[in-house]
Amino acid sequence: MQRFQNYIGGTFRDGDTWFESVDPSTGEAWAQMPAASPADMDEAVKAADKAFNSLAWASLTATARGKLLYRLADLIAKNAPRLAELETRDTGKIIRETSAQIAYVADYYRYYAGLADKIEGAHLPIDKPDMEVWLRREPVGVVAAIVPWNSQLFLSAVKIGPALAAGCTVVLKASEEAPAPMLEFARIFHKAGFPEGVLNVLTGGPDVGAALTRHERIAHVAFTGGPETARHIVRNSAENLASTSLELGGKSPFIVFEDADLDSAVNAQVSGIFAASGQSCVAGSRLVVQASIKDAVLDSLRQKAEAVVIGAPDDMATEVGPLCTKRQQKWAAELVTRSQAQGAQLITGGQPLDRAGFYFPPTILDCSRARDADCMTHEFFGPVLSVVSFETEDEAIAIANDTRFGLASGVFTQNLTRAHRMVRSIRAGIVWVNTYRAVSPIAPFGGHGLSGHGREGGLQAALDYTKIKSVWLRTSDDPIPDPFVMR
Ligand code: NAD
Repeated sequence: MQRFQNYIGGTFRDGDTWFESVDPSTGEAWAQMPAASPADMDEAVKAADKAFNSLAWASLTATARGKLLYRLADLIAKNAPRLAELETRDTGKIIRETSAQIAYVADYYRYYAGLADKIEGAHLPIDKPDMEVWLRREPVGVVAAIVPWNSQLFLSAVKIGPALAAGCTVVLKASEEAPAPMLEFARIFHKAGFPEGVLNVLTGGPDVGAALTRHERIAHVAFTGGPETARHIVRNSAENLASTSLELGGKSPFIVFEDADLDSAVNAQVSGIFAASGQSCVAGSRLVVQASIKDAVLDSLRQKAEAVVIGAPDDMATEVGPLCTKRQQKWAAELVTRSQAQGAQLITGGQPLDRAGFYFPPTILDCSRARDADCMTHEFFGPVLSVVSFETEDEAIAIANDTRFGLASGVFTQNLTRAHRMVRSIRAGIVWVNTYRAVSPIAPFGGHGLSGHGREGGLQAALDYTKIKSVWLRTSDDPIPDPFVMR
């Protein structure tokens, strides 16, 4: 069976122990992964700290850091097919999507490569005649990056890219579910020519995650995952007082008004909930549809859901592949059953497919008579859509905002003034109007409430990996006057 290795201080290492990674399309183990120990994690953080303080990294100009990132981007683009193949094998995400997404990941690194030498300080018009005061932006230090198994090359790019552009070093913990693409990424990174220890990639479970996030030499924790894990991470950061940025789950509303282009809205809704088998933090999992068009929209969605091509994730014709883990498949089935008992009406799908692998069909639940059913409030992380209807714009806003999450949202309407009112009223980090699931390195991404805090992507993300140093320089040659008076 194929074996992967961790990457610590510029060298590739076996684990103390190994664990098997399962191919979600068969349910069979296909590779062995190195389980890092807390001691490995300690070594990785120390390697990153040494690199942070080394001349090899710290004395590089920002432009030189940018050039290394450009080289990394080119290597990712060149190796995208191999990375896509591994992500598909290990996570079950369809090759159609991994190929496109990983090719685009290279552009994220290019964006941050270009930004590296545009992170500027400032000069202050200080209120003292004999003083020059300016601000330097300096890297925060060693960053702990933790990613889940879904879209991991993308989710790590929005951490590693800005952190390295800012001059930080990184220890990345890949998820213990499906770490193959990140461990392969480490090999590609190695070839880009960064000094050793600048990036370290390990995998393992919560114990190594805890060893990383509470480590005394960690300055910032950039986490993507579920809210419950985020609570552990915030508690761990009480040990080192590291700053945190948290990209968590969602229960995003997808609102369709009767004046919308319905073909477009239905297609976007299919993409929003069934693409990636619904395993997306921004999944538009609550359809909020105007009552007058509910039957037409539901009918069209049901037909599309039932026509989706379910199959092997490495087949280019497949539209919905398996879920990543058996645990998720079980969770989705239980949540559907519970919601039905609470009054939700099953329109299509509903239970795991009777075949090998962790397949779950596109599922629609009509919750018009069960607005408080669990499927309306809990994240499935699967291809399950909950539907409710509304009469007025105010009611649509109230339903959309009736959630503790606040990550993404979609609004479909041809009415320009209404679109603007909706943009203002929806409490979410992203509002897509007449589109859905669009991302770019140029646009910030993130949420609030149970969806976390901090933003990834865009210029601000690079600034978030810096701290400000105020520099005071006295320009007078006269002796300092009265030492007992503050200047
Ligand atoms: P998870 O929270 O179970 O795991 C995420 C990572 O945290 C894994 O690497 C895991 O090993 C690690 N971890 C677990 N316990 C830890 C601990 N005590 N200390 C440190 N690290 C620990 O999430 P998951 O099930 O792998 O991923 C799905 C979740 O991620 C969903 O809630 C989804 O919405 C969210 N997500 C959010 C975004 C976003 O950008 N907002 C993107 C993708 C996924």
